[in-house]
Amino acid sequence: MKPDEFIDYQALFSEIAIAVQTIDDIGAVASYIPELLEVDPNKFGIHLTTIDNQNYSFGDSNEKFSIQSISKVLALTLAFELEDENLWNRVGVEPSGTAFNSLVQLEYEKGIPRNPFINAGALVICDILVSRLKNPKHDFVEFVRMISANPNINYCSRIAESEKLTGFKNAALINLMKSYGNIENDIETVLDFYFNLCSLEMTCMELAHEFLFLAYGGVNPATDHKVVTAVRTKRINAIMQLCGFYDEAGEFSFKVGLPGKSGVGGGIIAIHPEKFSIAVWSPRLNKKGNSYKGMKVLEFITTRTKSSIF
Ligand code: GLN
Repeated sequence: MKPDEFIDYQALFSEIAIAVQTIDDIGAVASYIPELLEVDPNKFGIHLTTIDNQNYSFGDSNEKFSIQSISKVLALTLAFELEDENLWNRVGVEPSGTAFNSLVQLEYEKGIPRNPFINAGALVICDILVSRLKNPKHDFVEFVRMISANPNINYCSRIAESEKLTGFKNAALINLMKSYGNIENDIETVLDFYFNLCSLEMTCMELAHEFLFLAYGGVNPATDHKVVTAVRTKRINAIMQLCGFYDEAGEFSFKVGLPGKSGVGGGIIAIHPEKFSIAVWSPRLNKKGNSYKGMKVLEFITTRTKSSIF
């Protein structure tokens, strides 16, 4: 294929169908959230949607899964709208180089998380949304539904409850930040909102449609709905590029070359600005908590098409 100008997506997806069988699927399903262990680890789904509404799918692309930390991007999008640049007084935009649930930097940096995608940063974003929204859980899911005009997006209470029972590290993170004055609300309320946010479920197709606005300057090209400004779109994509995969963000940039975000449910969303959004789901995670096969498939795609942001 020629670099960049034209991508024959149909041919690409035929190749993916073959390549997927040769890519090994190693790693383990996240076990620290007991309900996630119920998922069949052999699931594999992929959906690509272009800004001119071409759609390509493969495998279990119509099955709902727990998008987990991918929803942190949507939370950031809404908090950014509400707080504008004041947001950056409470959370940074630098890669952390530490695990998604790490506590170590937080004490050195006096309760200001490195970025909005590590758990500490997402908890601060949740605190902001709890302060700003009238009915936080209801208003947030309505915002998510509005982005892709999809009323069928919901939280999964089973997953949220399961994480609540085992979310001791998140409790530690939020307590530490509260001690530094970076959490305004009651800890239980913010944690409940956070666990629900992480429990959102989507199919690969829904996820790709949900994130297409980030490939199109902040506007969903399917509905013409303006979600965020072009400047904020640039910034959200930049944070995904640098922080979307925690201490594996460099590796994802190096191998895939697109802004993206992972979740411990095995999902990944990646954005090719001005071209497409692509969602992959494969529940076995590597040691950094990112989908092993999902990353491999995305690497295959950008290598094969010679098309990335670099
Ligand atoms: N809900 C998960 C947690 O807080 C999200 C982590 C992730 O998807 N990386 O640990």
